[in-house]
Formats: sequence, structure tokens, C-alpha cells
Amino acid sequence: MGIADYAYKGKRRFNIAKFDCADTGEFTNRDEAVNEFVENLLVINKKQQKLYSERKEGVIFVFQAMDAAGKDGVIRTVFATLSPHGVKEYCFKVPSSEEKSHDFLWRFWSALPARGFISIFNRSYYEDVLVGKVHEFYKNDVVPDRVKESDVIENRYRQIVDFERYLYQTGTRVVKIFLNVSKEEQARRFISRIDVQRKNWKVSSNDLKEREYWDKYMEAFETMINKTSTTHSPWYVVPADHKWFARLLVSRIVKKTLEEINPQYPPLDEETKAALQEYRAKLIDSLGKEGYHEQEKQPKEFADPSLVPAELIQQEALKKQQEADERIKKAGFKKVRELLAENYMINSMQEIMDAIAAQEDVHEEAPPPKEEEDDDGQDRPTEEIRRGMREIDARMEEIEEENKGE
Ligand code: ATP
Ligand code: MG
Repeated sequence: MGIADYAYKGKRRFNIAKFDCADTGEFTNRDEAVNEFVENLLVINKKQQKLYSERKEGVIFVFQAMDAAGKDGVIRTVFATLSPHGVKEYCFKVPSSEEKSHDFLWRFWSALPARGFISIFNRSYYEDVLVGKVHEFYKNDVVPDRVKESDVIENRYRQIVDFERYLYQTGTRVVKIFLNVSKEEQARRFISRIDVQRKNWKVSSNDLKEREYWDKYMEAFETMINKTSTTHSPWYVVPADHKWFARLLVSRIVKKTLEEINPQYPPLDEETKAALQEYRAKLIDSLGKEGYHEQEKQPKEFADPSLVPAELIQQEALKKQQEADERIKKAGFKKVRELLAENYMINSMQEIMDAIAAQEDVHEEAPPPKEEEDDDGQDRPTEEIRRGMREIDARMEEIEEENKGE
């Protein structure tokens, strides 16, 4: 099962009644998915660096879902390895009175990404054909006589398709993701939010009220997807009853989108190359004989006369980064993966780093009390994981020692 099975590009009809929200694709459990998830995050990280350096194309990832489907968790984990300078999340809530006094797309223009940037839309203009349609909010709008109430929603589908085509043709790709959670799983998650004190802040009585309109929402999601899926701006419907599978699938979607864009580090033009050579000569002069030892500092590949130093420095840096990634993968990730697979899907790369960094404290601590399963996968590491983390720490030190010797 590839992501094509979950993609809607305008040809295939989406039938929400037939969709299995508990689907886990080719996997039987989360343990099997961890490896691929970590790999995907690494690829996403690399591709974003290129996207940002190239500044050719902007990307919007739109997330829509019923409450408690796991939007926030997916965003937090899948985009965890992105560099903050190239990505921004926008959470679109009930429009303000100023926003309401404009056309429905107005508030999104300022959130469009510049080329090379990624915007994450946590809810979007699609709310205007979801909640807006279910509750017929458009009937409250004061508009000219020529705007017929009965046409509003139908027009919006078309206007959205036109808007996304316009963006695509002018350098911004829009990829839409619907996290499809079942009504039963939503109930379980709401109960857990009520029962567990640290999740109480997520409970909103409005969410419970919206649940009453479940069937109308399902109809609205189905129609929306069938009316606004296009080749250049597809919808992905992600089964969301299993958070680990939703996260894996979204990581695949983000990875595939960036792979399709295929960004490249921009080559230097001849003029810049020549200018860099001049700077370089000046810098070497400024350091003097004592300060710069040409033979030692230059990587071997500098011997290639067809390549200028700037490109080689870039190549060298990339090679080193790849080697470092490999080392971490071989030593650290292998163990991390095993450990994480035992209990939970990772929440973020930062979590791994934090766990490693917190090792000293862990030695003095008594074993933590056993916590209940967290629906966000945020339960604290068990003693077993902590022990493993200590092993990773030791291995990391060994790697550092090995590197020093290189
Ligand atoms: P979380 O609950 O995790 O913080 P959320 O996205 O559910 O995230 P809320 O503040 O709970 O955030 O809800 C935002 C609300 O804003 C949703 O109920 C959504 O339907 C509503 N909303 C968003 N856009 C519109 C719109 N154009 N018209 C009316 N309501 C909207
Ligand atoms: Mg909410």
C-alpha cells in the first residue's frame, strides 16, 4: 500500500462511508513503522534545506479534521526536524470581525509562503465549506443582491480550485490532508481528555456540540474532497484511528511532495564564482603565512581544477553531514528505534535528544511510577527505555572518541 491509495487527484471518487479509519496499511503494529518514520524525517530535513536554499517553490500543507483526530500531534512530529527559519504554522480559528468583513479567502493571503518556505495551515479556507456549510454561516453575511445564498457553497468549491490553481501556476504548491478519525475513536479520545487531568485543557464543550453534527460533517468532507481534488493540488485522506499510522503516512506525503519538487542547492553564476575567488585571496592575505596553511586546510578534492573552492566546500560539508547521519543511524538510531518501538512512536527528534541529554539526572532518580497509556503517545520513558538511553549515551561517547581519533 503506497500513498497513492490514499490520494485523491480528481479522477477517483472519495466515498467516506467505505473508508476504513482504522486502516494500518501493510503494518500490523507500530513497531514495524518506526524505522521508516525516522528515515522519512531525515529525508524531509534534507529536502527542506535544499528547498530553502533554492527559493524556487513554496509549499502549503493544509490539515483538516474533526476534533481530536490528531492534527496537532501529526504537525508536531512530522515537521519536528524542519529548520524553523523555513517553516511557519498558521492556526485558523473562528474569523474575527475584521476577517468576516472581507471575502473568505482574504485572511489567507498573508499566510502564503514565500518561495523556499513551507506554510502549515492548521485548518484553512476549507472551514468555509465545512463548518460554514454545516451551520450555514454564510446566511449571516451582508452581501450585494447579486450574491445568491443558494450558490455560495457551490461557488466556494470553484473559487478554492481557482485559487489553488493560481497559486500552483505562480510558484506555490498546495497539498491537502484530511485526518479521518472514526466517531467511536473520537468518543474514546474525548473521554480520555475528560478523565486525565493533564489533558483537561484540550476539552471544549464546543467540540462535544459539533459531534452532534457528525453526519452532516461527513457529507461535507466527502463533497469537499470530490469537488476540490486536482492533480496539482491533491487531497490525501489519512486513516487517523491509529496515531502512529497517521503520522507515518503524513511523513510519507511530506517526503513525497518534497521529492517531487526535487529542490537543488543553487549553482553559483560565473560572476559570483569569480568574486568568491577574489574574496578568498583577500582572506588568505589577511591571515598571512602563519594563519593559513593551504595544504592542510583544503580537502583532497580541491585538486580537481574544474571545481571552484566554494562548490567543494559545499560538497565536503554535505559529505561530512551524510557520514555523520550514517554514524548516528548505525549506532544511535538502531538502539533508539528498538527502544521506541517497544513502547511508543516517537513524538519528535527533540525528544530523543532531550532523553539523551537528561541522562545524568536519570541516574539519581528513583524509577518513575507507571503511567497510563497516553493517547498522544507522550507517556514518559519507562525504566527500560531509560536504561537503553544510557546505553545510547555511552555509545555516543564512544563515537565521539572514535571521531576524535580520525
Ligand atoms: P485545538 O482544539 O487543538 O486547539 P482547533 O483547531 O480545534 O485546535 P479551536 O480553537 O478549538 O482550535 O477551534 C477552532 C474553531 O474555529 C473550530 O471549531 C473551527 O471550526 C473554527 N473555524 C475555523 N475557521 C472557521 C470559519 N471560517 N468559520 C467558522 N468557524 C471557523
Ligand atoms: Mg478544538
